[in-house]
Amino acid sequence: MDNTVYLSLGSNLGDREGYLRQAIEFLNDDSSISVESVSSIYETDPVGYIDQPPFLNMVIKLQTSYSATRLLALIQTIEHRLKRKREIHWGPRTVDLDILLYNSESITTKTLRIPHPRMTERAFVMIPLREIAPDVTLPGWQFSLDQILSELQDKEGVRIWKRKNGDGVFELFES
Ligand code: ATP
Ligand code: CA
Ligand code: CA
Repeated sequence: MDNTVYLSLGSNLGDREGYLRQAIEFLNDDSSISVESVSSIYETDPVGYIDQPPFLNMVIKLQTSYSATRLLALIQTIEHRLKRKREIHWGPRTVDLDILLYNSESITTKTLRIPHPRMTERAFVMIPLREIAPDVTLPGWQFSLDQILSELQDKEGVRIWKRKNGDGVFELFES
């Protein structure tokens, strides 16, 4: 399990925290994946298509023996199991899982781009990523996360919703 991966998770329909939690449990239940750390949960005003409920967003770090393509297939299965329906592009969804980083590789296929091509424009991704990986570097980027974040406009739309309260991956979710 020697590949280090960062994923972003988002939900803005129904039991939002429950969907994030179930997605993490589905990932961790896979014997080829170990979830290593999770960020706090942030609440985020929608951007893009703004006439929809606020999102909960977080970033997690995992180790896996899966290729990036195999991992994409798995996260799509998890989205499907959690009843995500695609209706409006960038519209409401029970859960959205995106691969942000896969080791320090740059990957471009028909169905996959890593680093996620819009991550550096999104405070709701960069803020939780910096929380768990302040020193991570993005292939193709000479700037630190701090420098990228200092250029972003919509940071005040991203607020801590549930603060991570320890090192354990699932502590966040204990009531
Ligand atoms: P955005 O990508 O802007 O966050 P989105 O998450 O709403 O938008 P989706 O409808 O969830 O977009 O995904 C569309 C397609 O994006 C997926 O079917 C997948 O093939 C592709 N994709 C490309 N790169 C990635 C990546 N790094 N992580 C997840 N999906 C990706
Ligand atoms: Ca997304
Ligand atoms: Ca997605």
